[in-house]
Amino acid sequence: MSDPFKLFNTLGRDKQVFEPIDPGHVRVYACGPTVYDYAHIGNARMAVVSDQLVRVLRHIYPKVTYVSNITDVDDKILNRAEELGVEMKDITQKYARIYNQDMARLGVGLPDLQPKATEHIQSMIEMIQRILANKGGYVDGGHVYFDVRSLPAYGGLSGRTLDELNEGVRIEVSEHKRHFGDFVLWKPSQDHEVGWQSPWGRGRPGWHIECSAMSFASLGLPFDIHAGGVDLVFPHHENEIAQACCATGNQSLDAYAKILGTNGFVMHEGQKMSKSIGNILLVHDLVKEHAPVVLRLLLLKTHYRQPLNWTSQGLENAKLLFQRILDIFSIQQPQMGTINQDVWAALLDDLNTPLALVHIEALIRKIRENGYLSEDVNQLYASVVFLGLMDADHLAVVDLPSPGEIEALLAKRELARKSKNFKVADHIRQSLLKQGVEILDTAGKSTWKYRL
Ligand SMILES: [Zn+2]
Repeated sequence: MSDPFKLFNTLGRDKQVFEPIDPGHVRVYACGPTVYDYAHIGNARMAVVSDQLVRVLRHIYPKVTYVSNITDVDDKILNRAEELGVEMKDITQKYARIYNQDMARLGVGLPDLQPKATEHIQSMIEMIQRILANKGGYVDGGHVYFDVRSLPAYGGLSGRTLDELNEGVRIEVSEHKRHFGDFVLWKPSQDHEVGWQSPWGRGRPGWHIECSAMSFASLGLPFDIHAGGVDLVFPHHENEIAQACCATGNQSLDAYAKILGTNGFVMHEGQKMSKSIGNILLVHDLVKEHAPVVLRLLLLKTHYRQPLNWTSQGLENAKLLFQRILDIFSIQQPQMGTINQDVWAALLDDLNTPLALVHIEALIRKIRENGYLSEDVNQLYASVVFLGLMDADHLAVVDLPSPGEIEALLAKRELARKSKNFKVADHIRQSLLKQGVEILDTAGKSTWKYRL
């Protein structure tokens, strides 16, 4: 009998045994990116943590639906579009595509559903109407506001009282608000701005209503787990919950999601990442310098709830660890085994990936000391596949060429060499090296190995 799966719930602040609302269908939502720029490593952390969470859930439960949205209407996007003199969708389509490509390189599976805000405006309007009908909001001058005083439990997620709300609230200068904690559900658009017809005039939704409406439309309320970064707990997640409570007429804060899972932020060499310091790490740049699998490994080396300090030393250590794993597979080719029990137990305990990796290191030592027993090597393979670092089918490292592809190129190179076409042969060698594969020519035979 396996241990139960435990998760820390930011709502209530305790680690609890996960009990799905419907064990036949587990439902998960994570706040996705606002697409107007390249994703930074903090965005990637949320995506990798959610991906790992979903992998664990799929291993336990027969059906899991994972939804993560794309915010493709937002003032930041509008401003960027205006600066560049292009349409909003020119920006959002480009960066949504790049986001998915970058995350795929990190071994992150596409969500089952990836709703776009602009395609769910009607759901948002309907949710705002429900909130107004339940006396949770008010209309003023083409704006619709959420009335935080209508929900006595408001602030319970982040632990703020109504009086403390002025701290950390995004500056929204408006003469229409009745309480400084009230937030926008709908706002009017100027003629030149993107907008949709609504009962309150032409306008666009506030940011928070997007997630409540899209998770409601995709999963139903309440659902099991809401995931997201700590920087979004207040006001975004707090407001998502408040809207859902009010729209469903249920005053309890778990009327939205039973568990609020929150991952910590990422620092760069001990410093907070910020535009002003210029130390923001973009996934798009990092994957040019490092094998993406090493980036994923480094993201998993810190427990998801802790702040993660991204350092060049940490990258080097992650690379060495992964190289040691690959060295074992080059000596003893694995078959798919079962996940190492200690690794699995660590994941069941609030997704403790750093402990899982400690157990992987112990397994590596055991394999070397005990003469590469196939059962242990197979366990190691199954475990690294489960952590999203390798492919289950053919020993491929995530985002690197697969052994089959490499063998085909080696055969092509051999033909080129035989016909003395050394330029082609050398090109194949160089391009594989750039992709993390080294060709070794010894005693008239060419072999290869991954070199990260
Ligand atoms: Zn959200």
